[in-house]
Amino acid sequence: MSFPTRANAFEFDTARLQRFGFAKADSCAQQPMDFEQLQRRLGLHLQTSLEAEKILGMFFNYVQHLIPLRALHYQHAGTDLKLELGERSRHHASYSMTHEGVQVGELEFQRDRRFSEEELSQLESLLVSLLYPLRNALLYRQANLSALRDPLTGAGNRIAMEQSLTREIEIARRQQQPLSVLMLDIDHFKSINDTHGHATGDEVLRMVADSIKDRLRNIDQVFRFGGEEFLIVLTNTARDSAALVGERLRNAALQLTYPVNGRAVELTVSLGCSTLLPGESPDSLLRRADSALYAAKRQGRNRLEMAG
Ligand code: GH3
Ligand code: MG
Ligand code: MG
Repeated sequence: MSFPTRANAFEFDTARLQRFGFAKADSCAQQPMDFEQLQRRLGLHLQTSLEAEKILGMFFNYVQHLIPLRALHYQHAGTDLKLELGERSRHHASYSMTHEGVQVGELEFQRDRRFSEEELSQLESLLVSLLYPLRNALLYRQANLSALRDPLTGAGNRIAMEQSLTREIEIARRQQQPLSVLMLDIDHFKSINDTHGHATGDEVLRMVADSIKDRLRNIDQVFRFGGEEFLIVLTNTARDSAALVGERLRNAALQLTYPVNGRAVELTVSLGCSTLLPGESPDSLLRRADSALYAAKRQGRNRLEMAG
């Protein structure tokens, strides 16, 4: 079954901005808020936040004073942002937003009734109020993301890890869910550097990080804990499931082959796993995973050990 869909490439260049013009006030006299009023409110309120989610939430709420909507869906690939507000409905109006050649995201409005031409033209004019606040929020989000990312592997850095662990522990407590972490360390990594050079070592690190990310659910998170060590935070995951994930990652490393001068660099990893205890601190959770990792190393490497 196909639903009526309207897709528009929406360019915020000057020519388009001028062409949109504004709807006449008397055309929406029956509405709780008229177009000019709404536009003024949006102008004032959207610039009060630097959070894209908040800005889109405000936009969604305000626009409904003039145009009834059921859902707003938004995504921005560049900053990995996806947002779904309201309830899915069958009629869509979609906009791919760019400004001066830069992607500002894909936006879609949904509702049960077809959009009239006038409503679409009003929506498009109102999108202009969204542009600059949203673009600034995306720049802010991008800056935050890079401050929290390890530049070599793209995994989260230590700052991100600390923030995330604190938050995940709070959520686990509040929602009475299990939480597990895996500490993963590449075996004999120093000899990869020594044999093939530091640049190859860097490539191998990137490859291992990608292979970890590929095998996790998208709610799980991976951080670069130290040189060749990664911490994986498994949300809502009890000990047995965490052990399965750990084994999956260990096996994945065995299958990685990084060719140097026609020969594959062989690789194994060791892992330690701990599951949050009642009242436990982030430090203690990490320490137990680290001790388990140390035990895995002592027992010959290429293995997973569970913290007691
Ligand atoms: P083990 O099996 O006990 O973990 O041995 P290992 O050689 O992996 O561990 P060790 O701690 O002795 O050495 C880790 C090496 O990782 C030493 C360090 O030079 C290297 N390393 C740390 N960070 C980086 C990096 O960003 N790039 C590269 N290429 N090497 C790194
Ligand atoms: Mg190592
Ligand atoms: Mg190490």
